Amino acid sequence: MMTKTVLITGASSGFGKDAVRLFQKNGWNVVASMRSPEREAELGVLDNVLLVRLDVTDSGSIQQAVEEGIARFGRIDALVNNAGHGSLGVLEAAPAEVVRQQFDVNVFGLIEVTKAVLPHMRKNRSGVIVNVSSMGGRVAFPFSTLYHATKYAVEGLSESLQFELGPLGIRVKLVEPGGYKTDFAGRSLATFGAGDLLDYQPAYNDFAGKVDTWPMSERVWEVAEAIFEAASDGSQQLRYPVGADAVQLLEASKQMDDLAVKNMISSFL
Ligand code: NAP
Repeated sequence: MMTKTVLITGASSGFGKDAVRLFQKNGWNVVASMRSPEREAELGVLDNVLLVRLDVTDSGSIQQAVEEGIARFGRIDALVNNAGHGSLGVLEAAPAEVVRQQFDVNVFGLIEVTKAVLPHMRKNRSGVIVNVSSMGGRVAFPFSTLYHATKYAVEGLSESLQFELGPLGIRVKLVEPGGYKTDFAGRSLATFGAGDLLDYQPAYNDFAGKVDTWPMSERVWEVAEAIFEAASDGSQQLRYPVGADAVQLLEASKQMDDLAVKNMISSFL
């Protein structure tokens, strides 16, 4: 069987980096893309891993990374849209540049990378696109409006896209992790709080204090495993929730009306 090739965005850390290792270990060629490949010391030495620069907000870098990947390995069988950015705070206090960056990375960037890979997959009449969403793409917590808006967008986009790509042999997948202890909060989260808006401050401070103590899973590799399964299981399954919190919350919310879901989320806070 021909060796398969995957292109992964945001491969410098967290789920993306673990996914590079897992695909490589399973015999795939990997185009490991990231904003600053010159800082990456571990992945570049692995066999059949090509490090490329790809900033999802930079069109030129996207085109070049896709071309380099195809030039090196001959084809791209799977795309993992993993790069992501978060934001935490009161919507009314959100700086315009934070709003823009949130959508630029999680939505517009994901669309642009997908569009760059599609002509190749269409020509091959084959491919899998794995979009890393979140349990926060189907249920929402307070003070994370922008992040949820982008992940809900990724869910809607993926659900619709599967209809137009299915007949061309290209499958679309959603991986929906719960809370995992990656570097996300440290390196990928813009926290702007309540700014100087006193009306929101008591509720925001109360929430922020609780968020810091929420249990986050250390089993980060589970998400890489779900990404790998989504890319390789050959099935038509769309959604892959990962982690006990995501599985339980998403399952429970399916059985409830909107008010019951709101009450359930409030009970956690
Ligand atoms: P992470 O380690 O912070 O990874 C985020 C990655 O995105 C980093 O490699 C970062 O690269 C990259 N990135 C950010 N902006 C980029 C851009 N403009 N172009 C290319 N890459 C960019 O956090 P993670 O937890 O693994 O997050 C990966 C994905 O999982 C994200 O989509 C996130 O929303 C999602 N997720 C995470 C959790 C969780 O609990 N951790 C839960 C649900 C969903 P740099 O190194 O250059 O900053």
